[in-house]
Amino acid sequence: MRIIVSGAAGFIGSHMCDRLLAEGHSVVALDNFLTGSRRNIAHLDGHPRFEFRELDITRPFTVGGAVDGVVNMASPASPKDYLEYPIETLDVGSVGSRNMLELAREKNARYLVTSTSECYGDPLVHPQVETYWGNVNPVGPRSCYDESKRFAEALTMAYHRKHGVRTNIARIFNTYGPRMKLDDGRVVPAFLDQALRGLPMTVFGSGAQTRSFCYVSDLVDGLYRLMLSDERYPVNLGNPREMTILEFAEHIRRMTAAKSEIVFHPLPEDDPKQRKPDISKAKQLLGWEPRVTLEDGLRETIAYFQGVHAGVA
Ligand code: UDP
Repeated sequence: MRIIVSGAAGFIGSHMCDRLLAEGHSVVALDNFLTGSRRNIAHLDGHPRFEFRELDITRPFTVGGAVDGVVNMASPASPKDYLEYPIETLDVGSVGSRNMLELAREKNARYLVTSTSECYGDPLVHPQVETYWGNVNPVGPRSCYDESKRFAEALTMAYHRKHGVRTNIARIFNTYGPRMKLDDGRVVPAFLDQALRGLPMTVFGSGAQTRSFCYVSDLVDGLYRLMLSDERYPVNLGNPREMTILEFAEHIRRMTAAKSEIVFHPLPEDDPKQRKPDISKAKQLLGWEPRVTLEDGLRETIAYFQGVHAGVA
């Protein structure tokens, strides 16, 4: 297949490009580097089936030739990034999604959008199942991301219903691995950076809030399977192993043998108190579940961040 991937220079986007190329597909990769990085796709330079175009999908653009698939992964995704770029975040989920869906429609291509567990907001149903409609503050600081993704889901369903576009919606839960930005403010790079440098590890709030962390290769495997499926409604992709943020900090401190102390900072507004995917649907529909343990995934990620610190990655 010839597949267009937006957000291709992002953390998950770049791993998705690797997977699509490994499966024998051709990739037309798009990114405007708002939060993505050239370094994430530098290893694909000169690959015969990889073509990169620097562009902003919220502006009009065309892609020549036949296209079989459109994978829309473009968006700031870390709280720090979307709080810095709230309008760009809303634009990419709305105008950007519209442009990508139009492209899929025009080319008669299939379409996958990467949505998020943030659609559930600060969830009142636990673990989160796809049929839960969520508890989102529409005017809070995170609303630029949550509502952008919820709109993107609604638009995707509208294109499917109105135009018959073969669409898929993935709801991605917390994911980690090599190529995360060291300074994107998310908990995995933040704790690893702090631990590797012996700095205090900053737990927000009491650390009683929970998250569940999925290694990127598992996540991308789920995305790939979903992309080939006929499921039109959202599918959760994430690792159901849940822990508190304080436990996670202690885990990282042990694994890195860090001398860091744990310090407590104020909890950001609307920070979800609990998050864990119910992945029964993905299991049943896609035969998918995560395989990489937290220990193995963190080992790979630590090696990557050590390389970044040493200036080699
Ligand atoms: N967090 C933390 N210290 C940090 C960064 C994040 O305690 O330095 C917490 C944050 O408050 C949240 C969790 O870790 O409860 C996950 O945050 P992240 O920004 O990675 O993603 P989120 O799941 O909130 O989108």
